[in-house]
Amino acid sequence: MPKNENIIIKGAKVHNLKNINVEIPRNKLVVITGLSGSGKSSLAFDTIYAEGQRRYAESFSAYARQFLGMMDKPDVDQIDGLSPTISIDQRTLTNNPRSTVGTMSEIYDYLRLLYTRVGTPYCTHCGAKVKKEKIPLKISDDEDRKTNNKYIEIFVCSRCKERFPKIETRLFSFNSPYGACPSCKGLGTKLDVDIDLIIPNKNLSILEGGIQPWTKFFSNQQNYWKQLKDIAQKYKFSLDVPIKDMKTKDLQIILYGDPLKDEDGFKGVVDILQEKYQKTDSNFLRTELEKYMKESLCSLCHGKRLNKEALNVKIGKNSISDIADKNLIDIKKWFEKLNLNKEEEKFSKQIIKEALKRLDSLIDIGLGYLTLNRSSITLSGGEAQRIRIANQINSLLTNVIYILDEPSIGLHPRDIEKLINTLKKLRDANNTVIVVEHEEELMKAADYIIDVGPGAGVNGGEIIFKGSYKQILKNKKSLTGRYLNGELKVSQKTNYHKGSGKNIEIIGAKEHNLKNINVKFPLGKFICITGVSGSGKSTLIIDILGKLLAKLFYRAKAHPGKHKEIKGIKNINKVIRIDQSPIGKTPRSNPATYTGVFTHIRNLFTSLPESKLKGYDAGFFSFNVDGGRCPVCSGEGYTKVEMQFLNDVYVECEACHGKRYNENALEIFYKGKNIADILAMSVEEAMMFFNDISSIYDKLKILNDVGLGYLPLGQSATTLSGGESQRIKLATELSKRSTGKTFYILDEPTTGLHFDDIKKLLNVLNQLVDKGNTVLVIEHNLDVIAQSDWIIDLGPDGGEKGGELIFSGTPKEIVKNKKSYTGKYLKEKNKKG
Ligand code: ADP
Ligand code: ADP
Ligand code: ZN
Ligand code: ZN
Repeated sequence: MPKNENIIIKGAKVHNLKNINVEIPRNKLVVITGLSGSGKSSLAFDTIYAEGQRRYAESFSAYARQFLGMMDKPDVDQIDGLSPTISIDQRTLTNNPRSTVGTMSEIYDYLRLLYTRVGTPYCTHCGAKVKKEKIPLKISDDEDRKTNNKYIEIFVCSRCKERFPKIETRLFSFNSPYGACPSCKGLGTKLDVDIDLIIPNKNLSILEGGIQPWTKFFSNQQNYWKQLKDIAQKYKFSLDVPIKDMKTKDLQIILYGDPLKDEDGFKGVVDILQEKYQKTDSNFLRTELEKYMKESLCSLCHGKRLNKEALNVKIGKNSISDIADKNLIDIKKWFEKLNLNKEEEKFSKQIIKEALKRLDSLIDIGLGYLTLNRSSITLSGGEAQRIRIANQINSLLTNVIYILDEPSIGLHPRDIEKLINTLKKLRDANNTVIVVEHEEELMKAADYIIDVGPGAGVNGGEIIFKGSYKQILKNKKSLTGRYLNGELKVSQKTNYHKGSGKNIEIIGAKEHNLKNINVKFPLGKFICITGVSGSGKSTLIIDILGKLLAKLFYRAKAHPGKHKEIKGIKNINKVIRIDQSPIGKTPRSNPATYTGVFTHIRNLFTSLPESKLKGYDAGFFSFNVDGGRCPVCSGEGYTKVEMQFLNDVYVECEACHGKRYNENALEIFYKGKNIADILAMSVEEAMMFFNDISSIYDKLKILNDVGLGYLPLGQSATTLSGGESQRIKLATELSKRSTGKTFYILDEPTTGLHFDDIKKLLNVLNQLVDKGNTVLVIEHNLDVIAQSDWIIDLGPDGGEKGGELIFSGTPKEIVKNKKSYTGKYLKEKNKKG
């Protein structure tokens, strides 16, 4: 393929795209921007990436090819100039508990090689050095390949003569039975059934369902209840007294089984759950069972994941796990200072070079604060994405089209430049880097910008602008351009909230890197938590405050992170976390059902004379019960096709063609529209249609106010973007009667939002605060920070070098603070005006 040919897209019609033609220059850094819902992802992911995947799946393997027929061809007439496409998004999170930063980046693999070559083993009994000895081979039929010279190498303690296994790379692998801790099998943690979780309410008796998993899993198993009654009779206790009044020894029998049991004797609930958990192949059951389990550090390896033979191999004073416990910056220093003799250096030169290369790419992209043994599951979407980007730098691939969604998420302005440099490196290796982004600095750095708009949904899907940053500044039609050149502004707040004068305060926060800090949250204000990545924001707000409040207000089971106490709880009466997770997991949920407006619409339909005549009741127009819903798809409009190894695919229901209702229901009309017609209306259209019914109109208006006027009322929850879901949740909150004492928590609400969307978001959040509530956001966006009432800045840096409270006060004051990076960047922004 000619190298500098453009990627030429003709007639793209995916989702809301209006049959557009676009040319994208190859080997450039390209930013696609536009309002949330304008069609950026539809172009980048659902058109370019989807087609790239489909075409190049052909060149992969017979195995991959068999799925080709099932991959939808994106609705586009023609695409030329494609080459292999790789998407690096934030949604693909790992759920493999064995994946760590070290394994993801391969750095741990190089460490294993290094320890195999130059590590010194010590005896696990007496601590003396273990030496390699050659002993003559006695058994003639030994098949070990390396022993044809009649000697075998063994490892023996120089003092107590205990023998040890050969040192091989797999000894240092917690994913191999050879190296893994025998107790936790290399996970570092263990899941055990937790008694408090299975008996949440000790005032209930067993017969009343006091043992929760029993009611859930065995309630209809006659046999089990019979056994239960038999055992109670055998040991003469009652199943009908509150559990708190049962004798300990009787409860022990219920929990751990008949002490005199034989094979078929009575098994206790704890044993049954543990056994089920180990045996099941069902992810669903596993998740259900995990609700009764608590994770704790493995008591044998203390989280180090390896067996003691592996942990007793050292370089200097350090075991491999001591190194994996360090953050990447410190590991780099350790590598550079390694004191090796000539021979060792010869063995390990190449290994160290490769490891340093990978460390550098991770540090360069701003992840130096992560430790190697950090479990991938606990990484944020942005962190995992940045690791994958950094990996690509070392992959030496060329001629690839990379497609990334918002890599700036979770990054403090200080670290954006690092990200940009990495993206440029990828590009300079002859790749095309296409980024869906809203971040100003990234747009400045781009070679080419494509602005999708003008609006969102049906009002979007066109290319409004394409060209350089300089050109977009002068473009009158581009909303993005008008924000970038300062004509339009995001924050215009002039009056700040005074607040109620009351506080919530966390005392002695110590989880992860937090340095035993006390933090006050002034109520009735718009509060921003700021600080560079890894400074401790999520730890403080999500792990400690969020979980603590969820526990206090909703008896949630998650355990709050380490802290001493919390004060001032009585000053709030409700806590609501508004994140970007889907508003529902099935196509049956949609904006209308979630906001509650659909209940009013259904009631309207059942109150129509014709419905009454036919005896249709309130449930008739619901998707959740039989009646008017399509019996084939149960009101989903789609049927799910489960595909092994691939995401489930939804296909339009053959019976109702996506209308979700049966013929009877579709024959009922209000002002000429049936209920399916109404679900197909956008919020804006529905507002006009229902302008005389205030119960419906008012709710719709709030959706419109948060910028979702374009959204079809019945659009499936499964197809909404994170930003759209979040704003639907906000709209729902706004439409409730305010308690005036609610505490809202939002984690980077500007994710996926364009300047213009952020402006609307701020408007909504401020309305919540106007009513006396408190809004707390974790944010990096300077426009949002600038207009907040109160800033809590953590830092100064990430990881061990963070976790302190650097500043708390107003935006006006923080710019004077010399220690705060946030202050520094806000000051620069203010200068620019
Ligand atoms: P952006 O990336 O600019 O935020 P999207 O490309 O995700 O926008 O969405 C463009 C429009 O298409 C939005 O109205 C969105 O709700 C809609 N949309 C996205 N995915 C689907 C889908 N799978 N089915 C139907 N509509 C969709
Ligand atoms: P921020 O939200 O400011 O980016 P975090 O609260 O995520 O920062 O992280 C603070 C520190 O705690 C970092 O060093 C991070 O690596 C560490 N950390 C965060 N979550 C975990 C976890 N689940 N396990 C171990 N360390 C963690
Ligand atoms: Zn262990
Ligand atoms: Zn159907």
